[in-house]
Amino acid sequence: MTTTEKTETWSARKSAELYGIDEWSNGYFGVSDAGDVQVKAPTAEGEAAVSLTEIIDGLKQRGLDMPVLLRLENLIDTRISTLNESFADAIRMSGYQNHYRGAFPIKVNQQNHVIAEIARFGERYNHGLEAGSKAELMIALATLKNRESLIICNGYKDAEFIDLGLQACKLGFKCFFVLETLTELALVIERSRVLGIEPLVGVRLKLSTKVEGHWAEDSGDRSLFGLNTNELVNVVDILRDANLLHCFQLLHFHLGSQIPNIRSIRAGVLEACRYYIELIGEGAPLGYMDLGGGLAIDYDGTSSTSGHSRNYSVKEYCIDVVEAIQESLDEHDIAHPVIVTESGRATVAHTAILLFNILDITHFEPSPLPETLPSDCHEMIENLWHSLSEIKTSSLQESYNDVIYYRDQIRDLFHRGDISLRNRALGENIYLAGLQKIVQLLPQMKRIPAELETLPQQLADIYYGNFSVFQSLPDSWAIEQVFPVMPIHRLNEEPTRQAIIADLTCDCDGKLKKFAGPHGDASTLALHPINVGEEYYLGVFLVGAYQETLGDLHNLFGDTNVASVRINADSTIDFVHELHGDSIADVLSYVEYDPNALYQQFRSTAEQAVRDGIITIADRQQMLAAYSESLRGYTYFER
Ligand SMILES: *Cc1c(COP(=O)(O)O)cnc(C)c1O
Repeated sequence: MTTTEKTETWSARKSAELYGIDEWSNGYFGVSDAGDVQVKAPTAEGEAAVSLTEIIDGLKQRGLDMPVLLRLENLIDTRISTLNESFADAIRMSGYQNHYRGAFPIKVNQQNHVIAEIARFGERYNHGLEAGSKAELMIALATLKNRESLIICNGYKDAEFIDLGLQACKLGFKCFFVLETLTELALVIERSRVLGIEPLVGVRLKLSTKVEGHWAEDSGDRSLFGLNTNELVNVVDILRDANLLHCFQLLHFHLGSQIPNIRSIRAGVLEACRYYIELIGEGAPLGYMDLGGGLAIDYDGTSSTSGHSRNYSVKEYCIDVVEAIQESLDEHDIAHPVIVTESGRATVAHTAILLFNILDITHFEPSPLPETLPSDCHEMIENLWHSLSEIKTSSLQESYNDVIYYRDQIRDLFHRGDISLRNRALGENIYLAGLQKIVQLLPQMKRIPAELETLPQQLADIYYGNFSVFQSLPDSWAIEQVFPVMPIHRLNEEPTRQAIIADLTCDCDGKLKKFAGPHGDASTLALHPINVGEEYYLGVFLVGAYQETLGDLHNLFGDTNVASVRINADSTIDFVHELHGDSIADVLSYVEYDPNALYQQFRSTAEQAVRDGIITIADRQQMLAAYSESLRGYTYFER
């Protein structure tokens, strides 16, 4: 559907505004005058800018086809710096008498290269890791080199998990067990006695502070996690009886992820401080206050409390947290604790982009209409034709009602055999022309009737992208997470089409149909018409958190190719890691097929066909070669 005429005055700047890139990119991405999306990587000497098309060229030369998950290593470093420096600034400014320690929650992105980079770069800040399972603890133990860094163990823990954590303590790591249940405490005490190693104990509080957003249920009385006040008192008594109260050193809470409103974060901290003060009174030493995750990302660029944004910056978050703790504890002359956060999303979301090409487009547009109707037309087609000529802004709803009515009449006539195939086709064509005309006049209405509001989406083009929502953007499907999407080139041309984006899966949920816009979520995205013989690339941004391992094999589309790049100060690109995505043989084996056995089965089918005289031996060879080649191939569309 065409909404705007192409004008000479379009510019890359206008594209930047249209897609809101300056709002959601946090300064890490921008549009160049040449119309390309650029990565603007902070470097030692300032900033280096590289266009994504240049990176794609480099990937192609290295045999990495679309779709590609592109990881920007510089941004991992930058995000860790930002978090640590912002806390350091807030602490310096307010005269807070202790420091900050970050712990990256491994569940947010477990990929080896990501964790390795976080551990390597984070070492200078004593940035640690948070583990929610035995497997994640094993990653942490093998990866962290700096024993000042914290290891925080959340999640349900069995004896094996606890033993591993106790051994880590013996090695000199500050490895905390955050108790999720009372039963766990008995096991921690028992294993600690057996191994003769004292544990570092933390407690996860169930706060009554409620937060907004998708994760609202992680907070409040019915939260799945954490101890209530009564259980907390029990922990103190049990530890005291076991002569281990001095091990109770950390107070933890986690109000949920992507907390949109800074006021709920502050309220949570204040409530936790009340517990902190009381527990000090009970004789627990404490010393660490762990706020969990929740630091949110501005996915839609609105800086609002919409579920896809937040009304605060990292800087403001740090200041509010530091001040809230300081004010609460100073009143009681209690020493300031080490502030711990387990920010995952805010650390890695910016660091990855999903890049894919468009394979095809479906338009919902009428073919050119005849000057006049053929003489043998049914009356209903004549009525529809007449309605089309009557469409005007003052009576759009009425026109819409008429157009739909006559369309239905024409369809009924066809079902009963009263009009021909060609007459029905003409009718459908006039109907589409009518809807297009109504949609073009919609913006002139003062108030758009509810029924007509979804018309633009109904008539939007469908752009078919070479990717799987289920594999690469699972949260878009599962929790309707909005991610910024935009073309990564041709941005000095006006995008004249309105579209939704469908993926390669045969699933009607496999599409992107909600887009961040300056006026809230939009149901369509402006895109360019495709130039014949030329690739058209889109990028989905801010996908570095949670998407990779939550992705699944719907329709057996496997892991995409992954490339990590580092942008140098002189704007050259280092291709640091390349990972080829799953082959078809890989994904088949995930669902218990043996690719060799499949090949043998296909071979015997082909051999039988030779015996039956259906194909020649040469045909057979050609078919087997194609089958074998496909097994090794990429699961996505290959050109
Ligand atoms: C998931 C989780 C986090 C990470 O939250 P983000 O909002 O991604 O920062 C931190 N702590 C705990 C206990 C979690 O479960």
